[in-house]
Amino acid sequence: MSTALHVLPADPIVPKKAPVDPATLTYRDLLRGPFWQKIPAYREVSEAQFLDHTWQAKNTITNVAKLLKALEGLVSSAFIADAEEGFRHAPMSVRVSPYLLSLIDWSDPYADPLRIQFVPVASRLLPDHPKLDLDSLHEQADAPVPGLTHRYPDKALFLPLDTCPVYCRFCTRSYAIGLDTEGVEKVNFRANEERWKRAYEYIASRPELEDIVISGGDAYQLRAQQITEIGEALLAMPNVRRLRFATKGPAVMPMKILTDDAWTNALTGIVEKGRKLHKEVVLHTHFNHPREITGITEDALNKLMERGVTVRNQSVLQRRVNDTPEVMTLLVKRLGHVNVHPYYVYVHDLVKGVEDLRTTLDTALYIEKHVRGSTAGFNTPTFVVDAPGGGGKRDAHSYEFYDRDTGVSVYTAPAVKPGQYFVYFDPLDQLSDTMRRRWMDPAEQEAMVADALSKARAHLR
Ligand code: SF4
Repeated sequence: MSTALHVLPADPIVPKKAPVDPATLTYRDLLRGPFWQKIPAYREVSEAQFLDHTWQAKNTITNVAKLLKALEGLVSSAFIADAEEGFRHAPMSVRVSPYLLSLIDWSDPYADPLRIQFVPVASRLLPDHPKLDLDSLHEQADAPVPGLTHRYPDKALFLPLDTCPVYCRFCTRSYAIGLDTEGVEKVNFRANEERWKRAYEYIASRPELEDIVISGGDAYQLRAQQITEIGEALLAMPNVRRLRFATKGPAVMPMKILTDDAWTNALTGIVEKGRKLHKEVVLHTHFNHPREITGITEDALNKLMERGVTVRNQSVLQRRVNDTPEVMTLLVKRLGHVNVHPYYVYVHDLVKGVEDLRTTLDTALYIEKHVRGSTAGFNTPTFVVDAPGGGGKRDAHSYEFYDRDTGVSVYTAPAVKPGQYFVYFDPLDQLSDTMRRRWMDPAEQEAMVADALSKARAHLR
């Protein structure tokens, strides 16, 4: 950077760029007003009631019959039957907050990007990829204690409980989160202090562990006292330098931050305690679509901003939800507008029952190219592939080899699992007919993977 003094020119300033029309800055337009009252069941619900987190929790829909009842009159009977059948095949149980239900455009439910994430319909489901594994990230294989994954050298993922304020179709942790479904018997990570103690003992015994993610499930479901207990136990360990509380809450029930004073004060208390100890405590959240950010979200995030709580976002790239440069750019700009750092965009993991949501790696690279440059670098998300088999998050561009025809990409993770190769697969329905036929044959599947691995080895540095 030059430090020389410059003499200002006398000529008038010639604008190089015309000012934009403020009407085009749509990321600033946030939904306000009683939008929930368009849902018949919430027609009489006042603003005070709707903002009350206890009302939201009490009226959260937790079974298919109740969900379908709430939708009566809003959607066709054909859609209801489609959704009923969709849930029968889903690996996740039902949980939808009134706030979320109110944000869905029920006049066009098949196209609505929020409906797509939470309410499966059988007519859109696709067969799983033949290489899919229920715990594709191998979180359990890397867990020295149940509910504690230690994969990266200095970081661990702590799962203190297995419930969330909503259940998302695309959940990577569908092997554990929520109730059993017709197709999946879940691993149990219920909140249990004995299990937590074993996790603390392990973390304290590993001097290299500095960074702990407290996820789940979802930190929103922890009681205020539990936030304090977990935060204090971890901050007391000299090796622990950073904590992240992970919650989807701001995206699906932001009013809790405004009206659950005990919870918000507990979080703020741990952030402040961390600051006094010169340790970072932040909130990680999960918005996927710009419409998930409303005026209520802005008020909630402003409250966290005033209390000095840093919030970062991790999105999942999903087909028909956010898989265009326009929608992703709008999301990124809107996140920046409400003071949330767009940290990661995950290329969708291989998850059971949601092949219709996955995109190709090529789509992710295309979108990333268009998003980068639209705002400041620190507000630009990194697009990552969470390498199946436990390689951890890899920059989507860092593949050793990618065959767009077979849809096979190969990653390595030298700092995490040196010498190993991790293979990601594009969804089959996005490939050519010839390739889809090859994928029907197990011998051909092995040949395609072997070919990709040998080419990756040849390129490896
Ligand atoms: S909130 Fe997170 S952990 Fe819970 S179901 Fe959704 S993606 Fe899974």
